[in-house]
Amino acid sequence: MNVINIAIDGPSGAGKSTIAKRAASRFGIIYVDTGALYRAIGVNVLRQGLDTADPAQVEETLKTVEISLRFIGGEQRVFLRDEDVSEAIRRHEASMAASNVSAVPAVREFLFGLQKDIARKNSCVMDGRDIGTVVLPDAQIKIFLTASAEVRAKRRFDELRAKGSSETYGEVLEDMIKRDYNDSNRAVAPLRQADDAVLIDTTGLTLEQSVQAVIDVIEGRKYFL
Ligand code: C5P
Repeated sequence: MNVINIAIDGPSGAGKSTIAKRAASRFGIIYVDTGALYRAIGVNVLRQGLDTADPAQVEETLKTVEISLRFIGGEQRVFLRDEDVSEAIRRHEASMAASNVSAVPAVREFLFGLQKDIARKNSCVMDGRDIGTVVLPDAQIKIFLTASAEVRAKRRFDELRAKGSSETYGEVLEDMIKRDYNDSNRAVAPLRQADDAVLIDTTGLTLEQSVQAVIDVIEGRKYFL
C-alpha cells in the first residue's frame, strides 16, 4: 500500500488527539501528535530557566535541544535527549509554554523537517494546527475538527480534574481562549482550515459520534480497502 497521510487540525480541546488516535488504530496506521513536539520544546525552555515568551531566548535553546519521537508498541513517546518526557509535557504549565514557543518561526522551521520525515516514511494520522496547510499540504485526507470554546474547556477541565489538577473551569476556559487567540493570530502558520479540509464540529457530538464522523470521512475516500 502507498503511504497515506491524514491531517487533522483544529483548536485545543477539540478532541483531536483522542479521535485521531482511535482513527489511526482503526486503519492500522500510526498516530503522530505534533503538539507534543511544541510542548517538549516549551518544557526544555522552562527547564533552562528561560522565558518562553521571549523569542530570542527560545531560539537560543534550539542550538542544543535534542528532541525525538519514538513509537513504542505503536504508541508515540517524546524524548528530550534520552529522557522520556511524555508525561512531563502534559502538565498545565507546558500548555502555555508550547503555545508561546510555537509562535517563534525558528521553532516551526526546526520541527518542520522532523514531521515531514515521519509522514514520508509512514502512513499516519498526524494532528496539529498547520498540518493540512503547511506541513502536509499534499495529505490525501484533511479534516478540521472544532467545537465551541465552552465545550472544549469543559472537556479539558474534566480531563484535568480526573488527573487531580486543581484548576477551575474559569481558568481552563480563559487559557483556552488565550491559546486560541495566540494560535490563530500568529504571523507564521496560524491555525486555519485548509481549503480542501472537511470540517467536523463536535460541539453537539459524543466522543463515539465524533470518532465515527472522522472514520466515515476516511472510509469515504476508499484508500483503505
Ligand atoms: O495540541 P496541543 O494542545 O498539545 O499543542 C500545544 C500547542 O502547540 C498549541 O497550543 C499550539 O500552539 C502548538 N502547536 C502548533 N502547531 C502544531 C501543533 C501544536 O503550533 N502543529
